[in-house]
Amino acid sequence: MECRAGAPYTETADLRVEAVSNCLITGGAGLIGRALARELSARGWRVTVLDDLSGHGHWPELPADVERVERDVRDVSALRAVCTRVRPRLLFHLAAVVGVRRVLRDPKGVHAGSLAGVEACLSALEQACPHDTRLVFASSSEVYADQPGLLDESSALRTQCEGRWAYAAAKLEGERRVLQANPLARVVRFFNVVGPGQSSEAGMVLPRFVERARAGLPLELYGDGSAQRCYAHVDEVARVLAELAAHPRWQEPVLNVGGKASASARALAQCVLRHSGSPSVLMPLDPERLLGGQFAEVRQRTPDLGCLQRMGIALPVLDLDAIVLDMLARHPRVEAQACASPA
Ligand code: NAD
Repeated sequence: MECRAGAPYTETADLRVEAVSNCLITGGAGLIGRALARELSARGWRVTVLDDLSGHGHWPELPADVERVERDVRDVSALRAVCTRVRPRLLFHLAAVVGVRRVLRDPKGVHAGSLAGVEACLSALEQACPHDTRLVFASSSEVYADQPGLLDESSALRTQCEGRWAYAAAKLEGERRVLQANPLARVVRFFNVVGPGQSSEAGMVLPRFVERARAGLPLELYGDGSAQRCYAHVDEVARVLAELAAHPRWQEPVLNVGGKASASARALAQCVLRHSGSPSVLMPLDPERLLGGQFAEVRQRTPDLGCLQRMGIALPVLDLDAIVLDMLARHPRVEAQACASPA
């Protein structure tokens, strides 16, 4: 696998979005896709979602007027057929295998599958979409190299590709491919998007803490739990994406999208315990023992959201307490036996 950091970006161009437009969301049954489908549908978009339900996606939470297509995004002819029929003005490509645990099971497969999805979208964009369809590719804060301070879109990018980093490498390669292939294409780099209905199965931290706190089980932390992240509520992220979708002059090729709820894993766990009143305790675990030599800790990741703000997009405002309270109120209940561990 080859990592290419800092690939050149194409010239920018504007997109005119009409009052009612069609939109296709791949991975649209997942956490972000469901929220985005709801948000766009409420704003008058005609929304089609495509998902193979291989990951954490499920249909029931989607509004009735959202069209659902159960397909693998890598099935190029099926994707082209959907695009020919829907004629999307926007194609959000969110479908991906998500979660460190799932990536570690088959890093090379995840990398190849991710790039196959990108190529299928580019093929459909070229052959089956209107000439001015905008492709928006979901990338990740994982593409940034470990470094102190706020991460802006020009911060140094990761160069490792193996094991756990196969996901980041595939996102970087995907970014490069879509930006080189199409002048209207854009990349959004998400930072720790969380919300009710997020799957804990792949080790996602907040749903895991909430489910275990409700069951009175220990909240397990990697090491001393001091690694810090910045969380964003999925409904606020969906609102940001919907505003970007209708933005008349989205010129930035790459944008950070995240929130303001910065916390260590320990502080997040304590926040869940405080608001839930759970008797659970915090339990430090040795990540290397759980995930083997492939584990690599990223100490801190906080987005600089200046680009988004300069475009006139209102930034997410929910703090950690608000996000945790909403999770406790709306996250589905699971049986104690079904509560996920971090590995
Ligand atoms: P999710 O796992 O909830 O949703 C991903 C969806 O993609 C699932 O419904 C899954 O079934 C679907 N999918 C996977 N492979 C597919 C395929 N081959 N064909 C069709 N559908 C397929 O994840 P999410 O949190 O909603 O993430 C959405 C996107 O944002 C992903 O690309 C992810 O890499 C990216 N992202 C998310 C976060 C986050 O914090 N949630 C952070 C960085 C990047």
